[in-house]
Amino acid sequence: MPSFSTEVKNELSHFNETSLCCLFAELASLLRMDSTFILSAKHHLGINFSTENAAVARRTLAFIKGLCVGEINTELVVKRSRRLQKNNRYIIRVIPSPAVDALLRNMKFINDDGFNMGRDSYLLSKYCCKEAYLRGAFLGGGSVNRPDGGYHLELSTSNYEFSRQLLILLNQFNFPVGETARKDYYVLYIKESEAIISFLRMIGAEQVLEEFESKRNLKEVRNQVNRLVNCETANLQKTIEASVRQVQNMKNLLGDSKMKILPEALKKTAWTRIEYPDASLSELAQILGIGKSGVNHRLRKLEAMALRLKECEKG
Ligand SMILES: [Zn+2]
Repeated sequence: MPSFSTEVKNELSHFNETSLCCLFAELASLLRMDSTFILSAKHHLGINFSTENAAVARRTLAFIKGLCVGEINTELVVKRSRRLQKNNRYIIRVIPSPAVDALLRNMKFINDDGFNMGRDSYLLSKYCCKEAYLRGAFLGGGSVNRPDGGYHLELSTSNYEFSRQLLILLNQFNFPVGETARKDYYVLYIKESEAIISFLRMIGAEQVLEEFESKRNLKEVRNQVNRLVNCETANLQKTIEASVRQVQNMKNLLGDSKMKILPEALKKTAWTRIEYPDASLSELAQILGIGKSGVNHRLRKLEAMALRLKECEKG
């Protein structure tokens, strides 16, 4: 079974993006996530982009080819993993050329000051582009847990500047973002189920959202049932403990010779408690033919007397 992240990425890789502004924004973010840039001997730039997801590799390649003006040469290398649990890696190599220089200039990766490491405010003036940019970030370096486990969505990148750009953007949308570092990666994460749903919806993962939401609902119902059961069990335990204590107290009281003079009403209440140890307060009230508060009052009185008796015996 593919991981949930893979399912999300496979769906997003087929998201039909048609606006030119958003195509640039998504590609910029994809490239920022996990690529290196190469400078050829002739001072032209090339791109090495790497991903574990075949669909993401195809989408990135299609974007690069679609947005480059002029001839470019690309190659796709698949690095097969020798380890069983590890995924293959797909590496797109875009051979250095003037067309790649122009593409990177268009995206403002290169400007007059040199290389821009991760500030893409130029590409992010429109709402649609912000969404596309976050989609690119998820495709390039995102992961999300299936909701049966803990809620966790993260974007991780080795590019510090870029992680700051993402943080600004996520804050603009009021996502509750945490951050941490793992090895050489800067990780931004979201742990609230509602926020994860909004994020996935924003970047266009509609189909997997259905699965996410239904699983989340199931999980919440299960948690609620567990909470109720635990609460009921705790209450029941308390009732039983109280009843055991009361019965013992009543027995002590009635067994003591000094208590022979106990008023009839109290004596009757004590005997009833002993006879019906599992009865609730209202059941005792019914048996005794008095009100609930009356029973409560008598039991308190009896317990107080039992306590005094215990103290007398100790002293
Ligand atoms: Zn746009």
